Amino acid sequence: MEFCPKGLIKYANQANSGGNIPAAFVDVENKCTGCAICAISCPEIAIKEVLR
Ligand code: SF4
Repeated sequence: MEFCPKGLIKYANQANSGGNIPAAFVDVENKCTGCAICAISCPEIAIKEVLR
């Protein structure tokens, strides 16, 4: 959420099975540039960029 230049990483609407509110990728206007800053900056390596 902190590093996406397009502001596309937001809190999810629901808690996960562990009771935590995870981050979610929300891109209804197709603004993602594929820069991969989100993946590079994720401390848990939970995000992978997929080439389209
Ligand atoms: S690839 Fe870049 S623009 Fe797309 S969600 Fe990640 S940080 Fe944001």
